[in-house]
Amino acid sequence: MAQESKIGLEIHGYIDTNEKLFCSCKAIHGAKLTKPNINICPICTGQPGAKPMAPNSAALDKSIQTALILRCSINQNLAWQRKHYSWPDLPKGYQNTLSGPHSTPTGKNGKFLGIKIKECHLEEDPAAWNPKTGEVDYNRSGIPLIEIVTEPEFKNSGQVEKWLRELVITLGYVKALDSTAGIKADVNVSVKKSNYTKIEIKNVNSIKNIKDVIDVEIERQNKINEIPKEQETRMYDSLKRTTKKMRSKEDAQDYRFISDPDLPEIKIAIQKIATLKKTIPETPSEKLNKLIKKHKIPKQSAEILTKNIDVVELFEKVIKKVNPKLAIRWVTEELFSVLNYNRKTLEEISIEPSHFTELLELIENRKITEPKAREILRGWKEKSESPKANAKEHSQIGNKKEIEKAVDEIIKNNSAAVEDYKSGKHETINFLIGKVMQATNKRANYNLAKKILVEKLK
Ligand SMILES: [Zn+2]
Repeated sequence: MAQESKIGLEIHGYIDTNEKLFCSCKAIHGAKLTKPNINICPICTGQPGAKPMAPNSAALDKSIQTALILRCSINQNLAWQRKHYSWPDLPKGYQNTLSGPHSTPTGKNGKFLGIKIKECHLEEDPAAWNPKTGEVDYNRSGIPLIEIVTEPEFKNSGQVEKWLRELVITLGYVKALDSTAGIKADVNVSVKKSNYTKIEIKNVNSIKNIKDVIDVEIERQNKINEIPKEQETRMYDSLKRTTKKMRSKEDAQDYRFISDPDLPEIKIAIQKIATLKKTIPETPSEKLNKLIKKHKIPKQSAEILTKNIDVVELFEKVIKKVNPKLAIRWVTEELFSVLNYNRKTLEEISIEPSHFTELLELIENRKITEPKAREILRGWKEKSESPKANAKEHSQIGNKKEIEKAVDEIIKNNSAAVEDYKSGKHETINFLIGKVMQATNKRANYNLAKKILVEKLK
């Protein structure tokens, strides 16, 4: 039986790099930009006479690594194309891309998690145009993008969502994609009922919207009575959850592709491809296997750890010295909760693996209490510091007399809670032990303090 619907994607992701593609303006996004048009120059705003600089080589290398991860064959001669269209977001009147009818893309004929990759190439982002106000913001104009084109082999939205999430994690491993910038995609959906006439929905941002638009479009196409005679391009309104026709689909000839005379062809030596291949780190599934088989980490924890390259790399360094059980808990629970609380990623805080290791060693050797360690971890707002340096003032109190003194004080000052406990509300113990920890600046040996408290309340 023929497949009910066929879905293909043209995915655009921002390459994680410092500069734009043809000028030295910074390649930054979103919240890091405070105002429109502050990150621009004559090149990325297409001023008359401005010529492009040599393309950003780091971005080119990352696009080749991406193609290698997607198991594409790499083309050794890359020719820049001008893709023309007249739109306010495109000051030059054309977009520079390494793909087009007279060109060979960076990589082609690949496969990722069972889905064929038609091609993958590097290109520049246009500016952002607001059709309502007419304003154009050139901050992102010229930022390097990677475009990944799949064959229409997906069957449903759930499959697409899962695949895209894996793709983003995997490309995050080579730091190929700027994970803070998100992805967008042109999504093509065709159904059996309309003889698989290709309908493309342009510029859908976020994985959630991509998933939603597929469901909406499959439903719409299966409902309409008239089968579309030609391909068409639509846009998605995520608030109304509908798609709207923009135009009949343009052909490649509508873009008047020509080779760019300002940019020489790039030749990529086989040697260079081999070097780039060598520097690709392990993929998430390779790391997952290693954690489970070599380090005996439970599958569920290993899956959480391998979702992010920074996290799994930190973990791998920590378990060289610390018991993995303690490390799993402190990475997947304590560290994640602090990051969540501060709304930061591990990359933004820059935690030295050696500092995190020291912290866990101090717990392991009972030099500091876990509540104290938690407090130290919360204090790492911008970057970590060696916890050993202040270990003395944070040191755990194991001296019975000293704890007894604190416990006596708490019992004396919290008579209501003590009465509650004695009358059978045993959960009050948590309140009282909390007070003891607070009074000792979180340094009292927790178990010992609890034991003393219970004794004294008898
Ligand atoms: Zn610029």
